[in-house]
Amino acid sequence: MDHMTHIFHRNPRQSLPVAVGGEGIELIDQSGKRYIDACGGAAVSCLGHGHPRVVNAIKAQVDTLAYAHTSFFTTAAAEELASMLAASAPGSLNHVYFVSGGSEAVEAGLKLARQYYVEIGQAQRRFFIARRQSYHGNTLAALSIGGNAWRREAFLPLLIPAHHVAPCYAYRDQLAGESDAQYVQRLADELEQKILEIGSDKVATFVAETVVGATAGAVPPLADYFRKIRAVCDKYGVLLMLDEVMSGMGRTGYLFACEEDRVEPDIVIIAKGLGAGYQPIGAMICSDKIFNAVVEGSGFFQHGHTYIGHATACAAALAVQTVIQEENLLANVRQRGEQLQQRLREVFAEHPHVGDIRGRGLFVGVELVADRASKQPLAPAQRTHAKVKAEAMARGLLVYPMGGTIDGRQGDHVLLAPPFICNAIDIDEIVHRLAPAIDAATGYATA
Ligand code: PLP
Repeated sequence: MDHMTHIFHRNPRQSLPVAVGGEGIELIDQSGKRYIDACGGAAVSCLGHGHPRVVNAIKAQVDTLAYAHTSFFTTAAAEELASMLAASAPGSLNHVYFVSGGSEAVEAGLKLARQYYVEIGQAQRRFFIARRQSYHGNTLAALSIGGNAWRREAFLPLLIPAHHVAPCYAYRDQLAGESDAQYVQRLADELEQKILEIGSDKVATFVAETVVGATAGAVPPLADYFRKIRAVCDKYGVLLMLDEVMSGMGRTGYLFACEEDRVEPDIVIIAKGLGAGYQPIGAMICSDKIFNAVVEGSGFFQHGHTYIGHATACAAALAVQTVIQEENLLANVRQRGEQLQQRLREVFAEHPHVGDIRGRGLFVGVELVADRASKQPLAPAQRTHAKVKAEAMARGLLVYPMGGTIDGRQGDHVLLAPPFICNAIDIDEIVHRLAPAIDAATGYATA
């Protein structure tokens, strides 16, 4: 920006290009430069930009009715979207509460979990357990359960009591000689110990991202991890809430990422890909058990915002989800995701600063390290993640990098979350632009 801005940008010292357009997988700035949007912002734009069906659905909704407050009315768009989500969500997750984004949806889930226990006469269950490697949003309660120390520090003491256990992060935490089954059991035992330490009748909910997103770069759980976790939760009557704000709505190749883990949470949180960025929308979906407890108890969810169930946002999300279904895009996500990981493995096979490549579907992380053999993280002061972002942008590529954030142990990473509509050529081009950006940022000369 070459003029004085009155926007309170999150990073006011940074100068940003102006986005003036978007077409398919590309964004265009004021100079006409095009960028492949290989991260969808923050895993948001799953249909790319300017999708005509979504644009037309928004126009039609605004022409008819942009907004009606939900204390007076429901709307066809919200009803239809809720039915569609309930039909595709696992098991008895049948009740959809629409909000405007991920943090709001997490807040709704946390409050509903607490209210559920009040409804069934166990109000003392007010503690949450989450994982150290997690981000659940930036509002105070979401921040309270999130495991990112650097995001929380300025705001301590936080609003709600939360405890943390280890994430499932095989690349760093699985011990030498430890089998997957043993590692997963160790993590489940740790959760059980934490529940017993807090008091088995005091814990409300265990909260986790199904596939960890921004804090660590697309870290998927090992097979059976969530089934073991579910069993521990069930043993002590603790609810399981899965945050799929980043990983849900098809990003992993399944509409709900937890389908692949064959686990049914009591509450699931979605946002980003739900509306694909065409409108701000998120949702909290709860099970029959929780919904019925509220209906048969106080009869009222003690929560709400002005824009819940916003008609235009719901119409946009309905169009997005219809396109994903009708164009069978989840199959493309799985296929292109495999290609992406394979190409990254080829290109970075010998790279001394690429420690790990992982993910599911079109949700892929590249962990950068100082030394591949020892997995030593890069020094935070080098800000390698910021350099990757700048080098990639210079090459017309948008990726979502983050610095190491857990206990100083974790490397910087680059998160890739390209649109579901990308083809094989697009994937090759993403890797083709990313490789020199990582070389430049890490100071590694391939030539
Ligand atoms: N939960 C997860 C897993 C997220 O990745 C995010 C955002 O990145 C949030 C919650 C918060 O969503 P929002 O930024 O829409 O409030």
